[in-house]
Amino acid sequence: MQTTIGENIKAVRRQIADAAARAGRDPSGIKLVAVSKTKPAEDIYEAYGAGQVAFGENYAQEMNAKIESDLLSGLADIEWHMIGHIQTNKVKSLIGKTALIHSLDSIRLAEEIQKQAQKASVTVDVLLEINIARESSKYGFFIEETEEAAQAISAYRNIRVLGLMASAPYTDNPEDNRTHFKQLNEFFLDIRHKKMDNTRMSILSMGMSGDFEVAVEEGSTMLRIGTRLFGSR
Ligand SMILES: *Cc1c(COP(=O)(O)O)cnc(C)c1O
Repeated sequence: MQTTIGENIKAVRRQIADAAARAGRDPSGIKLVAVSKTKPAEDIYEAYGAGQVAFGENYAQEMNAKIESDLLSGLADIEWHMIGHIQTNKVKSLIGKTALIHSLDSIRLAEEIQKQAQKASVTVDVLLEINIARESSKYGFFIEETEEAAQAISAYRNIRVLGLMASAPYTDNPEDNRTHFKQLNEFFLDIRHKKMDNTRMSILSMGMSGDFEVAVEEGSTMLRIGTRLFGSR
């Protein structure tokens, strides 16, 4: 029997709480971002009705269409997270609309965000995307490049770096990703203590439908979950 989006949200929240308990963590320190890419505004509205306020989108154009939709435009507390690769010519259309950009994956992109944010007199909150398993199909910094990149980006006054984001490889066995999550969490705990301007490393965005419980056990503070809530795409 098919479950509703509201039921899925409830079940996932329960699984998050259980995984947190196994790791001796407080579940209130773990935020769920519902990944709504390719799904209609009606699905987002239904999730919102079930208490979900943070939504993740991969494409600027699709995100903006949903933000402006009749159904969703009046929901003042809804939060939009950009989680997909951003082309520099799309940056301007995102400024002032996103609660958090998870996918800052190059210095060139940071430069463009700084330029557009300064023009609009806003500060943009971002995470640095890390290519944790060195996959050629993925964007992001390698771990060994990240501190230097973070130092460079810390000079941009209209960008605030709040943490790190990664997508682990697709796998049928979530245990396969445990070492990746562990490695990223260790790096996160290390880089947190480095003093950098405009930087407050407090968010670790990792864990998706297939591996979020392992991610919670390994220190994730933000989960990006789509399929498990909204069904397959
Ligand atoms: C699509 C996507 C997700 C969600 O993936 P699911 O497997 O559907 O949970 C999370 N993060 C990013 C960057 C994505 O593109």
